[in-house]
Amino acid sequence: MSNSATKSALVLGCGGFIGHHLVKRLKKEGFWVRGADLKFPAFNETEADDFVIGDLRDASFCRQIIDRRFDEVYQLAADMGGAGYIFTGENDADIMHNSATINLNVLDTCHKRNVRGVFYSSSACMYPAYNQEDPDNPNCAEDSAYPAAPDSEYGWEKLFSERLFLAYNRNHGMRNRVARYHNIFGPEGTWDGGKEKAPAAICRKVAKAMDNSQIEIWGDGNQTRSFLFIDECVEGTTRLLRSGFEGPVNIGSEEMVTINELVDIVSKIAGKRIHKHHIPGPVGVRGRNSDNRLIEQKLGWKPSASLVAGLEKTYAWIEQQVHSNQALKKAA
Ligand code: NAD
Repeated sequence: MSNSATKSALVLGCGGFIGHHLVKRLKKEGFWVRGADLKFPAFNETEADDFVIGDLRDASFCRQIIDRRFDEVYQLAADMGGAGYIFTGENDADIMHNSATINLNVLDTCHKRNVRGVFYSSSACMYPAYNQEDPDNPNCAEDSAYPAAPDSEYGWEKLFSERLFLAYNRNHGMRNRVARYHNIFGPEGTWDGGKEKAPAAICRKVAKAMDNSQIEIWGDGNQTRSFLFIDECVEGTTRLLRSGFEGPVNIGSEEMVTINELVDIVSKIAGKRIHKHHIPGPVGVRGRNSDNRLIEQKLGWKPSASLVAGLEKTYAWIEQQVHSNQALKKAA
């Protein structure tokens, strides 16, 4: 149990990719950490002091775990996945219902427990599709959000929920903080099964491919994106919650690449000649890049690590996962 000198944090969604890494960071800083999720982290033991399995759509579960005033609360739980989950349309009702219910329950319970402020993870998917049609010049400045026109129901739910967190600031005097994450990647993230994002999917495909062979890429590969390494995401997250700025603010990288370029970088890291076979598939908007002017102005900090450096660490981890899975299958 925490003593009065130890700061306490609550991480919701801490069985997931970002939550798991955030818990490690908070433990390094000396926090007593409670986490909650539907599941334990997939690839490693959690470092949370108290990890509670449960469903945040259930208001009584929320009251059970938000039983005190935590020093820091991070709300990362959401029903989400990569393009293969978000953009096919098949999961729209679940995505909207599940994530909105979690946010409504968590925020109201925090308010009633007198929690000062909650960090909320919105997404670049809330930006209007009409500003992201030119792959070379997407506009993702924070004030370009309206008139709203996200290209997915996932983005609409994020927009609703970021407004919800800010409404509690105005009406209930809370100090909630809203970040818009842009494509976070790194080791210990989902790398297969349908919910993985582009960097993990490409690392997996390249790791499984023979030298001088081809891999399948959704769309023509000319769509642009930026990808932020997990350590910088966690850094931006804690900085924002502890700052005097409520947001919404982008937490992302400004190093924009095409998906084809991403494949080339990963192939080079792997030391393989990889040919791209473009096939129809869910691709999302044509261009997206983080705009980091506001975060730099408000926090005096912005992400700066190179994409290659993050991909080297991520590829090494995914390659190891692929090999150990293959070894397990052979042994079975
Ligand atoms: P993730 O899917 O790995 O983690 C989310 C966690 O929430 C999962 O472990 C899941 O089990 C949990 N969860 C879902 N429904 C729940 C429920 N009803 N009760 C309890 N737990 C539940 O996702 P992540 O990549 O770690 O993302 C964290 C947050 O950041 C999410 O809100 C996501 O929408 C947002 N975000 C992530 C990215 C990214 O690139 N990873 C980009 C933009 C926004």
